[in-house]
Amino acid sequence: MERTNKDDTQLHTYHGMRSNVDHRRVSRKLQVLAGHVAPLGEGRDMETSQFSASPTFSLSHKSTLHDWIVRDNREMRRAIFDFLDDPLYRPNYYSSLEGFRELTMQRVVKFVRQGFFSVRDYERDPLKFQAALESLSFCDYSMAIKSGVHFTLCGGTIVKLGTAKHHATFLDKMDTLELPGCFGMTELGHGSNVMGIETTAAYDPGSDTFVIHTPTNDASKFWIGGAGSTAKICAVFAQLTIKGVWQGPHVFVVRLRDDAGNILPGVRIKDNGPKQGLNGVDNGQIWFDHYKVPRDSLLDKYASVDGQGNYSSPIADPQQRFGTMVSGLTTGRMLIAQAAVDACKSGVTIALRYSCTRPQFGQTPIIEYITQQRRIIPALATTYAMHLSMLKCKNIGWKKNGGSNAAKQIHVLSSGLKAAATWHRVRILQECRECCGGMGFLAANKIGPMLNDMNVDVTFEGDNTVMMQQVAKSLIDRSMSGHLDMPVVDYQNLGLGCIGNLLSWRCTCLTRAAAMEMQKSPKQSAYESNMDLIVDLGWASVDAETYTIFSEELASVPHQWKSTMEKLCMLYGLHRVEAGMTTYLEHGALPGQAVPSIRHAINSLCTYFVSSNASVALSLCDAFGIPDHLLQAPIAVDTWHNIGQ
Ligand SMILES: Cc1cc2nc3c(=O)[nH]c(=O)nc-3n(C[C@H](O)[C@H](O)[C@H](O)COP(=O)(O)OP(=O)(O)OC[C@H]3O[C@@H](n4cnc5c(N)ncnc54)[C@H](O)[C@@H]3O)c2cc1C
Repeated sequence: MERTNKDDTQLHTYHGMRSNVDHRRVSRKLQVLAGHVAPLGEGRDMETSQFSASPTFSLSHKSTLHDWIVRDNREMRRAIFDFLDDPLYRPNYYSSLEGFRELTMQRVVKFVRQGFFSVRDYERDPLKFQAALESLSFCDYSMAIKSGVHFTLCGGTIVKLGTAKHHATFLDKMDTLELPGCFGMTELGHGSNVMGIETTAAYDPGSDTFVIHTPTNDASKFWIGGAGSTAKICAVFAQLTIKGVWQGPHVFVVRLRDDAGNILPGVRIKDNGPKQGLNGVDNGQIWFDHYKVPRDSLLDKYASVDGQGNYSSPIADPQQRFGTMVSGLTTGRMLIAQAAVDACKSGVTIALRYSCTRPQFGQTPIIEYITQQRRIIPALATTYAMHLSMLKCKNIGWKKNGGSNAAKQIHVLSSGLKAAATWHRVRILQECRECCGGMGFLAANKIGPMLNDMNVDVTFEGDNTVMMQQVAKSLIDRSMSGHLDMPVVDYQNLGLGCIGNLLSWRCTCLTRAAAMEMQKSPKQSAYESNMDLIVDLGWASVDAETYTIFSEELASVPHQWKSTMEKLCMLYGLHRVEAGMTTYLEHGALPGQAVPSIRHAINSLCTYFVSSNASVALSLCDAFGIPDHLLQAPIAVDTWHNIGQ
């Protein structure tokens, strides 16, 4: 990008303005904010926590807040939660690897038999499709992922990239699990760089087949969920060459196993073995040896090959075609992000409930410690913020006929939210685990197993570092073609608006910094040597956007929750300002004195949420609507005094 003198002038003017800021006034304002958020005794304007009255959360409890949070398919979600109260779905932490895989398969089979949704809902009713799969992650992540790979990655790809003949051949049999499916994109040598995969597909006119082949060990499909022992079909990504012309990666649905489950000739599969977690899923490695599949195996909505071996596609550019081939991954990405947010709901609820009943050093419950509040309450605010962003993401994502702009917007938004939600989840679950002391380490209390099972969510469905690059790239590209105004931070009115401006300021500041670096040549090396800045920019963008969404949502909060939600939104915002403090200090956007003031403001907000026996925070957790049989942890659904009895 050409940097203009105007840009320079604006930057200098901005810094000039910053240096004129009356830092003492800023500090005073922040203290006033801290005063405003001190305990207000507002218990009257919100519903009383179910937990404080009784240790169990009744599913019949329909709080207005719950309805505000859960906006679609409430009946079905409740029905699935009720269904999961079956003994088959109770946790068993004593299982062997084989035992857990068997149990996971049984769970998936029984769930699928209920017919809550169909793979066809992937396009027909995407909110229902997603709601059904989301509900599973509250129970067991292995079951959720095993179902997700089958229905979303494999089934969704067939729905999206296939045509009527594929739908007729596969979809009904996928709904009954007669044809369990897997998704073969990643290779041993090619993970994040999908465009670089090496598996080949060549058309053989003599037999009217495609020949799928694994030319090297690096090209073997790796990590393929379900391939280890159960999948009968696989959506395979392979580089298609027709009459010597490379056409880029295309997807073929191929049989791996026959109806009896035997691996077919031309296919070799090896189980990946035990993993850090998620051991109910049988991941495997697949090699194809000049494996002939019918011409109809090519999912041909966007590219087809006729009987004479002529290739045609409405999308001329292989790079663009590739974008279409992988666009189906967005749904999976959203499911992973939502599961991360839902895990935070469980983790925070367990940690908070335990902290309210657990005394240490005298009779004081440990939630009284500011260190405990600091770990749990901003996590609660972050969970709400991310949940609301996911609602927005789904709304944009499922809007019909949104056009290519909507597709781009959803790609960027879902990439950023996936990375932020799963990185938040790692930190939040770890904090929650520690907040429960030794009890957090007991598998029965669920947080530890969630940490292990979900650890992979930062890697699969798009590695987080790579996802944040997608977000930053779109901001840098936009900044290159237009002028960037720095938001004005008006310290005279410190509050919801000012916090929003601070978060937008950080995003704009980092966009400018990154864009300036990109002007250095060669561009690729400038990009690579500033990858850390790029990821920071991704974070700043998600923080600012998530805060904006939260602020906008305040307009529709049920009135009795309005003031509470405003505070929760402020807490989320201040917490993210604190996380990005280095940038504010480096560029002089905030004075050093702001650091303790923001700290005090956050502490005061935390104290507000835990006043009156933490009734506000507990009610916010109750509103998630997680029934005891899915919360599972004895320290959250009963008194810890009863453990071992
Ligand atoms: C349990 C599990 C289940 C899976 N299930 C499936 C499945 O069913 N089907 C399927 O196709 N795949 C599946 N995967 C594969 C998954 O999608 C890949 O692991 C993921 O895409 C990352 O690829 P990789 O492991 O090769 O890591 P790499 O891409 O090699 O990344 C390794 C490290 O390098 C960094 N890195 C890579 N590229 C860049 C870059 N450009 N800039 C900066 N840093 C970079 C990453 O941030 C990461 O830290 C699964 C993986 C796991 C672990």
